[in-house]
Amino acid sequence: MNNLYHPDIYKFDTPIKSYWEDTSNTNFDLEKLNKDTSAEIVVIGGGYTGLSCAINLIENYNLDVILVDAGKIGWGASSRNGGFCSFPPSKMPYQKMQKIYGREETRRFFKNSIEGSNYTRNIIKDYKIDCDVTGDKNFIVAHHPSKFGQIKEQAEIYRKEFGIETNIYSKEEFSEIGHGGIGQFGAVSYKPGFAINPLKFVNGITHYAISKKLKIFEHTLITKVEKNLDNYILRSKEGSIKTKKIVIATNGFYQEGLIPQLNSRILPVISNIIVTRKLTNEELDAYNFKTYNPIVNCRNLLHYYRKLPDNRILFGTRGDLVGSDKSNEEMSKKIEVFLKSIFPSWSNINIEYKWRGLIALSQKLTPSIGKIQDEEIYYGFGYSGVGVSSAPWTGKQLSKLVFSSNSKDLEISKIYKGLPKKFIFPKLRILYFRMAVWFYMIKDKLNI
Ligand SMILES: Cc1cc2nc3c(=O)[nH]c(=O)nc-3n(C[C@H](O)[C@H](O)[C@H](O)COP(=O)(O)OP(=O)(O)OC[C@H]3O[C@@H](n4cnc5c(N)ncnc54)[C@H](O)[C@@H]3O)c2cc1C
Repeated sequence: MNNLYHPDIYKFDTPIKSYWEDTSNTNFDLEKLNKDTSAEIVVIGGGYTGLSCAINLIENYNLDVILVDAGKIGWGASSRNGGFCSFPPSKMPYQKMQKIYGREETRRFFKNSIEGSNYTRNIIKDYKIDCDVTGDKNFIVAHHPSKFGQIKEQAEIYRKEFGIETNIYSKEEFSEIGHGGIGQFGAVSYKPGFAINPLKFVNGITHYAISKKLKIFEHTLITKVEKNLDNYILRSKEGSIKTKKIVIATNGFYQEGLIPQLNSRILPVISNIIVTRKLTNEELDAYNFKTYNPIVNCRNLLHYYRKLPDNRILFGTRGDLVGSDKSNEEMSKKIEVFLKSIFPSWSNINIEYKWRGLIALSQKLTPSIGKIQDEEIYYGFGYSGVGVSSAPWTGKQLSKLVFSSNSKDLEISKIYKGLPKKFIFPKLRILYFRMAVWFYMIKDKLNI
């Protein structure tokens, strides 16, 4: 299998030293696959997508499922994201979506996105997961005076066209309820939305899955999928699984070569996060930083940030372009500069955590859910960095499709359905992305 980034980012057996790891003490210590076994369905990838799909297959269809993850359960993005439950999972502006897919499908896409957010909220309750939920909305902040008009207009369209509950706040109003400072020129909010501890969330889902008797193998990298007349054999270093159906739930950590039909279609992108030490009330008061809701600004290469329950600031953005441990260090320093340029009086505040992971983009710019033609292989990926609300919901949709084997039974907006196009000269994907980053950096510098 081939990877697009430096091997450091694919060290599946190395724990990720994140703030979440230090605030959650669950360790499942599950088995590693070291024998030959079989199941009706195998799910590859133990994040939100894979776990949710497996649980739904067991609960709703009483099927025999094995789930494998190359690292410990939840090792991928699901245990180390920012914990923002936002929507929609798309990099495509709604105007373009309406042009390509029409008004009705676009409305349906937004409706499904909101269902995703509600689904996440519901399973937190139904599976009795304590994952430190904070806030009841998402904020988008204008980082420059010229951007306020744009986000106001977007909020109006969201309200009128998609029935989303939105609110508009002038700079002064947001300084009262959100935060002040030189990087804030008004804001809008939309609902539903909230923030979580993502590791506690994925651990809670795992607990529930285990209670439903899902068989899980950790530290089991599937390196090969062989096709026989009426089954598949999945091979890892020390064992194999014979199965009728396969679900690929590897999102940004998909490794080229595993499934030929999926190759060259995913653009994995690194996202980096830093977390400060705990801030004192005085330090927070310098910007009247009140809100625990998730916040993004509206740069092309956006910054996302939130106040954590213990008064640290989590700050993230598009990550490094290499994937080595060294590039992670360098990118973290750059992100620290971004944070401190927005909140200059925090210039001496230490950064205590820094980590990163892979999200998945594609040429579709929206998620992809479906079944590979003439195969019993199913996929769900490409949330454009908005997986907290969309990945668990996708897992549920996938379970329906896996059960019926018929793509027509997938009753969701067609914007989600089917594979994205392959990249031309796929080995150049990171170069294409680099060029896009440079382009957007210039746009951000010029505030356009
Ligand atoms: C730094 C960062 C911040 C983010 N912040 C947010 C946020 O605030 N809000 C939000 O909505 N989204 C955010 N995201 C995105 C979100 O985390 C993902 O969209 C979501 O977790 C995807 O879930 P998943 O289950 O599809 O994939 P993942 O959680 O990435 O799981 C894929 C799993 O597949 C496994 N795997 C890969 N190949 C194999 C193989 N061959 N054999 C066995 N196992 C394999 C990996 O080990 C991995 O655990 C962020 C992502 C990152 C990296």
